[in-house]
Amino acid sequence: MTGMTCQVVIVGAGPYGLAAAAYLRSENVDLRIFGKAMESWERHMPAGMLLRSYWEGSHISDPHGDLTLDRYQRALGVPLPRPVRRDDFINYGQWFQRKAVPDLDGRRVARIEAASKGFRVMLEDSESVWARRVVIATGIASFAWRPRQFNTVPPSLASHSSEHGDLGRFAGQCVVVVGGGQSALESAALLRDSGATVEVIVRAPGVHWLRYGTRLHTWLHNKANPLRRILYPPSDVGPPGLNWIVDTPDLFRRLPFAIHSRIERRAIRPAGAGWLRPRMKGVRITTGRVVMSANLVGRRVRLKLDDGTERCVDHILLATGYRVDISRCTFLAPDLVPSLRRVDGYPELTAGFEASLPGLHFLGAAAAGTFGPLMRFVAGTKYAASALTRCILGRAGNPVTSQVASREWDGLAQTPDG
Ligand SMILES: Cc1cc2nc3c(=O)[nH]c(=O)nc-3n(C[C@H](O)[C@H](O)[C@H](O)COP(=O)(O)OP(=O)(O)OC[C@H]3O[C@@H](n4cnc5c(N)ncnc54)[C@H](O)[C@@H]3O)c2cc1C
Repeated sequence: MTGMTCQVVIVGAGPYGLAAAAYLRSENVDLRIFGKAMESWERHMPAGMLLRSYWEGSHISDPHGDLTLDRYQRALGVPLPRPVRRDDFINYGQWFQRKAVPDLDGRRVARIEAASKGFRVMLEDSESVWARRVVIATGIASFAWRPRQFNTVPPSLASHSSEHGDLGRFAGQCVVVVGGGQSALESAALLRDSGATVEVIVRAPGVHWLRYGTRLHTWLHNKANPLRRILYPPSDVGPPGLNWIVDTPDLFRRLPFAIHSRIERRAIRPAGAGWLRPRMKGVRITTGRVVMSANLVGRRVRLKLDDGTERCVDHILLATGYRVDISRCTFLAPDLVPSLRRVDGYPELTAGFEASLPGLHFLGAAAAGTFGPLMRFVAGTKYAASALTRCILGRAGNPVTSQVASREWDGLAQTPDG
């Protein structure tokens, strides 16, 4: 086998991959990171979108706190509007990348397979890299969930919300959005703004609006308010009380599995940010209804709902969320996935984010099965990147991890042939 060698390959340059690279670099770990910086935010989230997480929960973590949103804003010399705009966040992530990992390699990883004492990572142009460890930080785009009843309609007429970086192409069309979360509601508002006629169909009996952005929430979140520290950790994922458990992934990890799913359901149930509400004017919202079937009628789609009513539209936008299932990571060699212990599609991970195959790590949403909902948000980058780094340096206290790490750091680094 020929090609480059290194200790660690990171796949993906979104917030998690970039944070991991920043932490490992600061410890002089020999690493390579692949993928385009913040590509998911450009390709899979709509232009005009605002971040639902607030400022304090949107910093990509670096070991010395030099690359926060505040530092970026200071470097720009102009205040950034809040909520943070998608485009500002992309620019921030790209600034972070230039500072922390200027040598990012923009090529995609095509395949990862187990090799002698490590992994062989093949790139899109067939070049390969051998690495002792691989960190998969490829986000959620490949886990987009498309309910079965829409399989009868071609993707060109029923697309997932993650397929669009710009909803402007639907101007003048009649669009049904399926879903009741932030993505569904914000996509509907953006579609309406760009001149589409929109209806949102929500399965739940009502839309759950979060207080974020309301006067009460702003008052409680004021830095001068003593209640703030008690009620809200910096990440603020989930309702008060639960948000502290979510903010402590190490505690979440130790809780019984049955409690995991209850916390997940409550902390990240479909909801819209309060500031979105006034933007829903002109958008029809139908609640408590399920789409039973979808069929082509000429170049349009006819939907049948469970109350017997029908809609005939130009397009269906499926804001139906994501279901993590690592067997859908097409870049993992087919014999690699069965060797990984999994629960409900998520890899089982150690304290150092290491899967049951030593040397293979997962960050971001794929780690939420072990560490909880915080891993779905940028706010989780601090915990994840520091735990990963401790593991790779052999300080995690995990027996498998420590063995592998000490072999590496005893200078026994192997070559691909080796
Ligand atoms: C509509 C929407 C709104 C959201 N709003 C917020 C918010 O307000 N706040 C918040 O904290 N979170 C939000 N999130 C969640 C957000 O996705 C995560 O917080 C964050 O992006 C996770 O970072 P990541 O690095 O794990 O994944 P990503 O940001 O998705 O980055 C993964 C990267 O891996 C790359 N990649 C994938 N496959 C390969 C490959 N084979 N080779 C090389 N590179 C590859 C991708 O191109 C991508 O750049 C939102 C998500 C969605 C869908």
